Amino acid sequence: MGNPKAFMNIPRKNAGYRPVNERIYDFGEVEQTLNREDRKLQASRCMDCGIPFCHWACPLGNKMPEWQDLIYKGQWKEGVEVLHETNNFPDFTGRICPAPCEKSCVLALHDAPVTIRENEAAVTEVAFIEGMIKARPPKTRTGKKVAVIGSGPAGLAAAQQLNSKGHLVTIFEKDNGLGGLLRYGIPNFKLNKNIIDRRLALLAEEGIVFKPNTEIGKTISGKEIMSNFDAVCIAIGAGHPRNITPEGRDLKGIYFAMDFLSQQNQLIMGEPVNENEIISAKDKHVLVIGGGDTGSDCVGTSIRQGAVKVTQIEILPQPPVDKNPDTPWPFYPNILKTSSSHMEGCVRKWSLNTNKFIGENGKLTEVLVEEVEWSKDENGRFNMKPTGKTDLIKADLVFLALGFIHPVHEGLLTELGVDFDGRGNVAIDNSSKSNVGKVFATGDAAMGASLVVRAIASGRKVAEDIHKTL
Ligand SMILES: Cc1cc2nc3c(=O)[nH]c(=O)nc-3n(C[C@H](O)[C@H](O)[C@H](O)COP(=O)(O)OP(=O)(O)OC[C@H]3O[C@@H](n4cnc5c(N)ncnc54)[C@H](O)[C@@H]3O)c2cc1C
Repeated sequence: MGNPKAFMNIPRKNAGYRPVNERIYDFGEVEQTLNREDRKLQASRCMDCGIPFCHWACPLGNKMPEWQDLIYKGQWKEGVEVLHETNNFPDFTGRICPAPCEKSCVLALHDAPVTIRENEAAVTEVAFIEGMIKARPPKTRTGKKVAVIGSGPAGLAAAQQLNSKGHLVTIFEKDNGLGGLLRYGIPNFKLNKNIIDRRLALLAEEGIVFKPNTEIGKTISGKEIMSNFDAVCIAIGAGHPRNITPEGRDLKGIYFAMDFLSQQNQLIMGEPVNENEIISAKDKHVLVIGGGDTGSDCVGTSIRQGAVKVTQIEILPQPPVDKNPDTPWPFYPNILKTSSSHMEGCVRKWSLNTNKFIGENGKLTEVLVEEVEWSKDENGRFNMKPTGKTDLIKADLVFLALGFIHPVHEGLLTELGVDFDGRGNVAIDNSSKSNVGKVFATGDAAMGASLVVRAIASGRKVAEDIHKTL
């Protein structure tokens, strides 16, 4: 801890976003960067407190106090090495993690927490720019072969860990591009895809083999994979979206959020998209149903495409703006989240249920919504009651951003005959094993839809478990 008084003398400083009236005309990353001196000062605010709750809150167990101190001292290389001890991809999490570490920072009790997430992105950028991050191929090979199915953050982390132990790893991916939701879900304005590409180049240099455009269970059967590999790691994500089916659901203009977001990412990457299937928000009134992060990504994408008006509705009540007694420090607070996309101009409404989609000539024109009231029963369970107060929202386009239920069962999972847990995810034991011999599962496919940081942590765990078995 280089400067023991910094947390009292130096205020938190965020790098901030690019100005709204500039950033809404492109898909470049919205977040800016601080200069290195300011970044060092921000890192110096870490108190190196006796019990680092930041470390406890991070699913990866990142050692925040250690690398804050190294950044403060300008020891960028050592800093990034400490980060990589626990996190394969700090360049991803530094950009898009909701940073449970910061919510649990002891400074957050009565002051602004350390800018841990931004510091993570910054130290990794310095390390990439100055060539400090290099491929580390294993010195020897075990001769064991592992198939990783799915190239999202869980699959990539699992592959890198297994490869580093000397196993021969092949990643199979059904899509053309690698990276899972990092590439096709998360918009470029949060995560530029060249950040993924430079990582993939390192993984390839380390000896991992990538097989894109290969859907296991279709292009290649699960049976063939089982007979050619010593272990199989399912990392296929939770691709089954939650739906709603009020009257009018079949009107033209209603899409799942991922159809819209992945198409925009494809267009930016120059991937072919059928012209007749293009979903464009230009000059449209857009209604996003679902108040979470995926919904917020639809808001930002619609604004960039030139929507006339964007509204986002949520069935749950508006969370408290500041502190929430139900989720006190050091837990992750359930409070109002205002993203960079919300700041770009969006109407947000809460406690609204969707009753009916209304249209003309088969095309959506309006959505009938109804206010609902929430109460807690004696067991603490929430109950929803319709109030009869309805409203019509003009909408030519609706995006359903209601989350994901579980992994897609049809195809691979059914063919392999894996069991599912009560929520429809691949059921695994404490060693990440499914009921089918040598088949393991990780990431959203096993946990349910979650976060990149949890996917990486889960990928590291499954790799450890597979390695022990092999
Ligand atoms: C729009 C959106 C925005 C998000 N934003 C954030 C954010 O800002 N921060 C954050 O922390 N989290 C965010 N998340 C959540 C995060 O992206 C996921 O939790 C994470 O990507 C899950 O990783 P995964 O590797 O388990 O699965 P995925 O990333 O879903 O990857 C699974 C991969 O498996 C492939 N696959 C599926 N079936 C097969 C098959 N049979 N054969 C071969 N390949 C197959 C898929 O094509 C996919 O590439 C967001 C999610 C969405 C949808």
